[in-house]
Amino acid sequence: MIEISHVCKSFPDQKQQDLHVLRDISLTVEQGDIYGIIGLSGAGKSTLLRLIGLLDTPTSGTITVNGKNLASLNAREKIDYYRTIGTVFQGYNLLMQRTVADNVAFPLKLSKWEKSKIDSRVKELLELVSLSDKASAYPAQLSGGQKQRVAIARALATHPQLLLCDEPTSALDSLTTQSILDLLSDINRRLGVTIVIITHEIGVVRKICNKVAVLEGGHLVDNGLVSDIIAHQNHEITRKFFGKEEV
Ligand code: ADP
Ligand code: MG
Repeated sequence: MIEISHVCKSFPDQKQQDLHVLRDISLTVEQGDIYGIIGLSGAGKSTLLRLIGLLDTPTSGTITVNGKNLASLNAREKIDYYRTIGTVFQGYNLLMQRTVADNVAFPLKLSKWEKSKIDSRVKELLELVSLSDKASAYPAQLSGGQKQRVAIARALATHPQLLLCDEPTSALDSLTTQSILDLLSDINRRLGVTIVIITHEIGVVRKICNKVAVLEGGHLVDNGLVSDIIAHQNHEITRKFFGKEEV
């Protein structure tokens, strides 16, 4: 579904020298995967997710999604592409002055859905994330876990086939984290949505990911099936994350 091939990304720094944030990244995400990207802060995880989400473009290399090179999309194709992906962030990014229902309805209004269809879709989405009783509440009245459920419902509104999650549980306590991970797992299984999830917590990878990529300083040091990565632990950073004793 997603083919990342020899992707590099650099930013000009203050001294006009390039800051190499991603170096020669190649990996494949297949339909139905829950693909984890793990690494320490500054490893380049968010940058990679932004490239997949077409919020930024690689300096070199290609990203192909469903056979289409993202760099070749025209304006209309880009809009179509954005509709096939949903994004969830650590900080929820909800509209604080709007109700839960309005937040979830927002992408549907942008996509010019009919009012009656929006209402029924919002109802369905709030049921999916177990927040039907909070439709008229405002984000400030919700817990962190509930806010993230609203963000997930909003991300799924237009039936995306791909959900990009940037540290979705990093602001949550461990019990709430478990319930959000259960929800994402459920969405993957029941709706067939492919998920790419960034994390710095190995527990997230162990719990829901079938595959994982380990990033360190912009390099892809390890990637593949979580079971294989745990079994082999070829790299020091992987050992640090997974810990030999837990195998
Ligand atoms: P992670 O999500 O793994 O913590 P990021 O992808 O956010 O890492 O950032 C990786 C590195 O790239 C960091 O050193 C960060 O400062 C740098 N970086 C990210 N975006 C930009 C940008 N737009 N301009 C300059 N440097 C950036
Ligand atoms: Mg990040």
